[in-house]
Amino acid sequence: GSSPHSVVVKTTCPYCGTGCGVDVRVSGTTVEVSGDPVHPTNAGRLCVKGSALGDTVGPQGRLLYPAIRRQDGDQSMERVSWDAALDHVAQGFRRIIEAHGPDAVAWYVSGQLLTEDYYVANKLAKGFVGTANIDTNSRLCMSSAVAGHKRAFGEDIVPVAYDDLELADLVVLVGSNTAWCHPILFQRIVKEKERRPEMKLVVIDPRRTATTEMADLHLPLRPGTDVWLFNGLLSFLHQHGVVDTAFVEDHTTGLARAMAIADNTAGDLRSVAAQCKLQESALSEFYRLFARTDKVITAFSMGVNQSSAGTDKVNAIINCHLLSGRIGKPGAGPFSITGQPNAMGGREVGGLSNMLAAHMDIENAQHRSLVREFWQSPTMADKPGLKAVDLFDAIDEGRVKAVWIMATNPVVSMPDADKIKRALSRCELVVVSDVMAQTDTTAFAHVVLPAQGWGEKSGTVTNSERCISRLRSFLPPIGEARPDWWALSEVARRWGHAEHFAYTAEHEVFDEHCRLTAAGNRESGVGDRDSGGEGIPRFLNLSGLVGMDKDAYDGLRPVRWPVLAIPDSRLPIPEVFSDGRFYTPDRRARFVPTAPHMPVKLVDEDYPLVLNTGRVRDHWHTMTRTGLSPRLASHVAEPFVDLHPQDALLCGVREDQLARISSRWGSCVARVRLSGEMQRKSVFVPIHWNAQFASDGRVGSLVNPVVDPVSGEPEFKHTPVRVEPF
Ligand code: SF4
Repeated sequence: GSSPHSVVVKTTCPYCGTGCGVDVRVSGTTVEVSGDPVHPTNAGRLCVKGSALGDTVGPQGRLLYPAIRRQDGDQSMERVSWDAALDHVAQGFRRIIEAHGPDAVAWYVSGQLLTEDYYVANKLAKGFVGTANIDTNSRLCMSSAVAGHKRAFGEDIVPVAYDDLELADLVVLVGSNTAWCHPILFQRIVKEKERRPEMKLVVIDPRRTATTEMADLHLPLRPGTDVWLFNGLLSFLHQHGVVDTAFVEDHTTGLARAMAIADNTAGDLRSVAAQCKLQESALSEFYRLFARTDKVITAFSMGVNQSSAGTDKVNAIINCHLLSGRIGKPGAGPFSITGQPNAMGGREVGGLSNMLAAHMDIENAQHRSLVREFWQSPTMADKPGLKAVDLFDAIDEGRVKAVWIMATNPVVSMPDADKIKRALSRCELVVVSDVMAQTDTTAFAHVVLPAQGWGEKSGTVTNSERCISRLRSFLPPIGEARPDWWALSEVARRWGHAEHFAYTAEHEVFDEHCRLTAAGNRESGVGDRDSGGEGIPRFLNLSGLVGMDKDAYDGLRPVRWPVLAIPDSRLPIPEVFSDGRFYTPDRRARFVPTAPHMPVKLVDEDYPLVLNTGRVRDHWHTMTRTGLSPRLASHVAEPFVDLHPQDALLCGVREDQLARISSRWGSCVARVRLSGEMQRKSVFVPIHWNAQFASDGRVGSLVNPVVDPVSGEPEFKHTPVRVEPF
């Protein structure tokens, strides 16, 4: 039990994009966590990862001090002062920028950063170094959803909230093992389904999972065929007159072309069923269910995004909602479920290399001049920077010579991960900000900077439903850990930009971010004065949060954007797009024609199986934190490869044996599992294991680095592999 004297600190879980509120009680050396009963996301619940947060806050394995690698002798890391480390970083980056130009340096950041850290990193790179070479591990996660939203809506807007899931009569989950990857969100769906058994759940996933167990209908489609499936649905809806004609005429454009492609590629049920390897009766049941239900939410996650056709998959889904007018209404809409705790916050501040800040575009001159003026930027990037895969290729080829990696472990998480090792070993200056001392990536660092961990750092994150939530500190920083925004600002100061990076606390950064979302924003009624002209309509708008002092920021309750006025919990949040106005130049939504194609690399004789990757229930990303908790580690103790029993037989491997899984790019070792969850010809390996927990368990080394041509998101769900006895 908790001590009667302990104080409750309200904060937010740092794991998945559900974004649960956490109550923390600290007494002595124990940290007790429980679900925040008044947080709108989780109302007191936590999943097993969130419940184990207290196990992961100790000093074990932490990076305590800045250090620089010795250039002579054993090349070991030598402890230095923050001043010396930051001088080294500032001088090293400056030397390379002066000799080779701003695009010779880069940042690779993370959906684990807080919005404030992200904002400062993006401002420094794009506005003050003049390079857009700042990309993020969100590229591996959500960038197809971002690109799909921008193509359809004109802005990266998620038009659904969690409450809508409880209002829906049909929830379609696509490419998402929600039960394991967003457990509290899934519990909300299941609870509502128990309350209203007539509510239907359809799950579209090649695998049988804990999520499909709860489904009324599971469509185990052939991997990579989602666009056929949703083109088929579009065609079916059109054929059966499930068209909101007034909405389509008044608020959309592009239907004819999208419809022609859908009809040509997926116009009849039988051919779609054959292409997707589904039973015609099951496919027809899904289409009919969708057609007759007004309140439909199609929620999608990595199975959709992580694909060489990821952006088209997103738009194929959105097309169906536009045609049927099932958007902008309670309980209806397409819903991207984000993976990381702050994938959304990073997008808000422009953390992707092809974005600017506050949902503005780097390629739009009007947007650039607005941001340049706001930042008083001396040298503004004016073209998109390199996306993650291209960025590491550029490092490998010596075009990018310095990189600052923050809060992510690309040597484990990137596709073709052995190439990332080679690239970093060739890079002139690798700076890594992290909470952990020994990661697969810090092994390649020339400078390491200790970051604050969960419980120490303070700031904001935004979850999948656009809810901004505070992370509050309740522990003193371990060692000399400092906020990432501070380290970035200190480097900016060394480059002569002190007055533009004069932040003394997080709330000052947050306030600047809020002011930028309001600046020149025609929707706010505030920005018009700033821009002196018409303004730019943007949905992301935090004008209601401008001007918060430290106390107001510390007391900030979870709030969903846009926030046009001081949040008032008595007022309902308006449904997004309920007025039928989108954020394209003509304010109409776009149907996007989606011509289907199969994944770029197909199976052949040498690599006859399709590798699918994903999470397990109790681990997070590359396990640097969840690996510290014995109770989390006990759920799945080591890397596994899940196969269909017949494929196991053909590969000559037996259950519980070790097997080597190889692709054209690399290999890893994992224990064979025959769970009965896999369809023929496909295997599943979890993404988590790093070298510390399994020396040969990095599945990233196998994953093919093919990316979606629009979003740049890699094809994590489809790599041809073979499996052999180890
Ligand atoms: Fe944390 Fe996600 Fe679990 Fe909520 S569902 S407690 S945010 S890991």
